[in-house]
Amino acid sequence: MKVSIIGCTHAGTFSAMNILKEHPDWEVSVFERNDNLSFLSCGIALWVSDRVSDPNKMFYSSPEDLSQLGAHMYMGHDVTDINFDNKKLNVTNLTTGEKI
Ligand SMILES: Cc1cc2nc3c(=O)[nH]c(=O)nc-3n(C[C@H](O)[C@H](O)[C@H](O)COP(=O)(O)OP(=O)(O)OC[C@H]3O[C@@H](n4cnc5c(N)ncnc54)[C@H](O)[C@@H]3O)c2cc1C
Repeated sequence: MKVSIIGCTHAGTFSAMNILKEHPDWEVSVFERNDNLSFLSCGIALWVSDRVSDPNKMFYSSPEDLSQLGAHMYMGHDVTDINFDNKKLNVTNLTTGEKI
């Protein structure tokens, strides 16, 4: 089974972790525009109210963590189109401009 996860803050990270835990043999690819993942946006209020000592604590995973679980990571990649009929994605590497 092949799974593509587009966007990797909370929902994407949680999905990738659980799919790979339950199905370690599935091919999971993660596409995220940013260079980080797993950001807990609900923690913004805690940061603003000075209840979090380090903004890095608002992240609970990393591209390396998901790679170790077996995911193919495409950080800094933008999904520009999804063709649901033939199950193809158009993806642009935001660093190089390359389209894959
Ligand atoms: C201030 C604030 C407080 C909150 N408080 C709570 C709370 O107390 N309790 C609670 O349950 N929830 C709370 N939430 C909501 C919760 O954080 C969201 O449900 C959660 O962030 C949604 O995560 P998500 O992964 O679905 O999507 P998003 O956070 O919207 O992330 C989408 C990700 O996808 C990437 N992306 C989007 N399109 C593409 C594309 N085409 N190609 C590649 N990458 C793409 C983006 O770069 C982004 O990283 C809060 C949110 C905010 C902003």
